[in-house]
This record gives sequence, structure tokens and C-alpha cells, in this order.
Amino acid sequence: MKAIPGLIAFDMDGTLLDGRVIYAIGQRFGFRSEIEKITKSSRVPYVRSQRIAKLLKGLAVSEFTETVNEIPLMMGAMQTVKQLKDKNYKVGIISDSYTIATEIVAYRLKMDFHVANMLEIKSGVFTGLLKMPLGWESIGCSCRQSVCKRYHLIRLAKRHGVDLSNTVAVGDSSADLCMIDRAGIGILFNSTEGDLSQNVKYVVRSKDLRLILNCLRDPIGE
Ligand SMILES: [Zn+2]
Repeated sequence: MKAIPGLIAFDMDGTLLDGRVIYAIGQRFGFRSEIEKITKSSRVPYVRSQRIAKLLKGLAVSEFTETVNEIPLMMGAMQTVKQLKDKNYKVGIISDSYTIATEIVAYRLKMDFHVANMLEIKSGVFTGLLKMPLGWESIGCSCRQSVCKRYHLIRLAKRHGVDLSNTVAVGDSSADLCMIDRAGIGILFNSTEGDLSQNVKYVVRSKDLRLILNCLRDPIGE
């Protein structure tokens, strides 16, 4: 058996996808401004996630998945994941979106794992209730997000027998900082949020996911 060189966790919205699922859904079904209002008014991240999930109440699952399927992958996503898989990396998604979306993206990219919030479904329709993986409460992370990306990075590394120093985390927003901070190699990718790069060692400023390969200890190049 080939040794596993490491585990790499990608954020989904704005990192693997060239777009954001909840905004695409809000745009299509007419509640984008409500999402923005909640984002501005709720200061506790997991409460924000719960309130946004309520907006999905009554929406058909099929309409949701149709919208997700229309969001293009980030430039270079397919090649990047393939090269990592060829090198025997464990590759997956840690997202504060929904499993119903991460499942589609993980399947498209043939990934090994995906973690996200679960939306409750009854008779093919969302109820507005959200089951959150959390995790920050058990490791003392200050993020208070519906998905503590640091907690799940640590958990997945353990599960796959990978030392934390051999993990890589890639994301574009402040929600990713707790895993970027703790991973062996933490990469801020094409961030649109002001000064996030200040405390991050690896920063990719272009919208081409292949560039993250240059940050790995054993760069995968052509
Ligand atoms: Zn956290």
C-alpha cells in the first residue's frame, strides 16, 4: 500500500465552486436580500446559519440541487483534485454550507470526504431546521461556527491516520481561518475579504486553484 502523503481539506463556496450556493439559491428564489440582512445583523455565526436555513423552509430539494448543479467549478479545480488524488492524498470538503450541496461537489470531483450542515427534509421539501456539526465547544475554538473547520480537520486527520503536520487547508474567507491556522499548510485562496492575509503564510491571489499546488512541501507540477 502506498503511504498517504497527507490530507487536504477544501472549503466549497468561492474555493471549489466559482460562486456561493446560498446566494445562488437566494437569487433564484427571491430571498437574497434577506440573507444579506441576516448576515449583517447576527453576530454569532452559528445563529446566523440557523436563521438562513429557515429561509429554505418549503423549498423543494430538487430545485435546490438543480441550482447547485448550475454553479461552475473553480478554474483548475478538477485538475488540482486529480493531481492530489494521483499522489495519494486524502482530499475532501469542509464547508459551512449544506451536505446536499457538498455531496454533489464531492461526487463531481471524486473526493474522499465531505462535512457540512444537514438540512432536514420531509416529503422532498426542506423544513427549515438545520443539524449542525459544530465542534468548537469541544476544542475551545473561538469561531462559534455551525461547522468548526479546525475541529473537523483534526477529526478527519485522526480518522485517516494522518499527522496534523501533514494536513493542508484551503479556503477564501474568515470562516476558514480556524482550519487554515491549525493545518500543516494553511492556504488563503483568492479571498475577497479585506485584510485576511495578514496572518496567513500562504496566499494565492489569482482565481486558479492549480496555484495552490505550489504551496505544498512536495510541489506537484507539470
Ligand atoms: Zn473553529
